[in-house]
Amino acid sequence: MDFAISDEQRMIYEYGKSLVKKFDRKYWVEKARQHAFPAEMYQQAADDGFVGLMVAEEYGGAGLGMLEMALLQEGLSNEGIPLLSLIVGATMSMSLISGHGTEEQKQQYLPGACKGENRFCFAVTEADAGTNTTNITSLTRSTKDKGRYTLNGRKTFITDAECAEYMLVVTRSTPLKDVQSKTDGFTIVMIDTKAKGIEVHPIDISIEVPEDKYMVFFDDVDIGPENIIGEVDQGFKILFESLNPERIIISAVCTGLGRYALGRAVEYANDRVVFDRPIGAYQALQHPLAKAKTDIELASLMMRKAAWLFDRGEACGTESNMAKYASSEAGIYAVDSALQCFGGNGFTKEYGIFDLYPIVRLFRTAPLNSEMVLNYIAEREMGLPRSY
Ligand SMILES: Cc1cc2nc3c(=O)[nH]c(=O)nc-3n(C[C@H](O)[C@H](O)[C@H](O)COP(=O)(O)OP(=O)(O)OC[C@H]3O[C@@H](n4cnc5c(N)ncnc54)[C@H](O)[C@@H]3O)c2cc1C
Repeated sequence: MDFAISDEQRMIYEYGKSLVKKFDRKYWVEKARQHAFPAEMYQQAADDGFVGLMVAEEYGGAGLGMLEMALLQEGLSNEGIPLLSLIVGATMSMSLISGHGTEEQKQQYLPGACKGENRFCFAVTEADAGTNTTNITSLTRSTKDKGRYTLNGRKTFITDAECAEYMLVVTRSTPLKDVQSKTDGFTIVMIDTKAKGIEVHPIDISIEVPEDKYMVFFDDVDIGPENIIGEVDQGFKILFESLNPERIIISAVCTGLGRYALGRAVEYANDRVVFDRPIGAYQALQHPLAKAKTDIELASLMMRKAAWLFDRGEACGTESNMAKYASSEAGIYAVDSALQCFGGNGFTKEYGIFDLYPIVRLFRTAPLNSEMVLNYIAEREMGLPRSY
């Protein structure tokens, strides 16, 4: 068993250290507070060849895998500058197009995306369906042209829906009552976010991140074969392929931000003197930090294992879910332990520690809540009965 990463992977992991010299945490936080996309930072990452890390070289990418993408995100997050757009964009959407797009679709979307010229958002959630994705509705055959479809309905919480150029929409194309299995009858479509019939409205979210969330309304949006990724009614399999990468890259955000918080806490705890000694000398602060460090490194190992399995084409559902669960819990605990070290300062904007909390906490709930992650492990890995 070899835990070493290659020189190239190390370089990718450490890219955050050089990017932060130009675009530091302060830059990221300012963008987050203004709800402005960190465009210059994203463009720099694209110019340096990192946005297209998982895209084949013939389409302008680096032809690398999930492990490299996770190392990139973990390295950026270690510095406190997570590039959250890499989750739905570079990891989920671009891989999905690479794997299932036609040659024309790949040429149309991938080279520009690798250069940072266009971004994607990913629309799954509907208010009435929630976690039960199989309940969504939307795509029907066009009444005017039998070869075309019409998209109606609305999605909610869609990250970056206004600024991204394209949206991957998960639709139900055959009603639930007409399918044999609940996961049959889905189609994935790619649409221009400025297409006729699309309206977006921002949702005010209590998390300061640069990418806003939106309600998206579809009113008779015209969909043709050119918009369909993969085959009609076969979309769930495609969606499923992008879920493990999503869990893996979210793990990388959580372990990285956890490390960043712990690094800041150690620095502060070594420096701050209360009762004649640095507060870091008190075991009541030391032990939670040491536990958090252990949890983060354990979670990071599982994240790397899941990515490694994914790249080998092996089943990695259990490992991806475990990594996501362990990393989000470890990230929450690490930020909370760090916060305690900072005392009152931890809650100030100047020190910016509390700012980290909503982001890691989000990942206990979304995109897939921890309960569903544990359901998966209990049922699929351990053979316990399905509870819902
Ligand atoms: C900041 C943010 C960004 C997001 N970005 C996107 C995006 O870009 N694209 C997108 O499509 N969606 C996005 N979402 C939506 C997100 O994926 C959903 O909020 C999430 O899937 C949960 O759905 P829900 O909110 O309807 O919760 P519900 O389905 O109403 O669930 C509520 C709670 O019930 C519990 N629960 C539900 N089912 C079970 C069960 N079977 N067993 C045990 N417990 C259960 C869980 O604790 C869960 O948290 C985003 C959400 C947020 C907050």
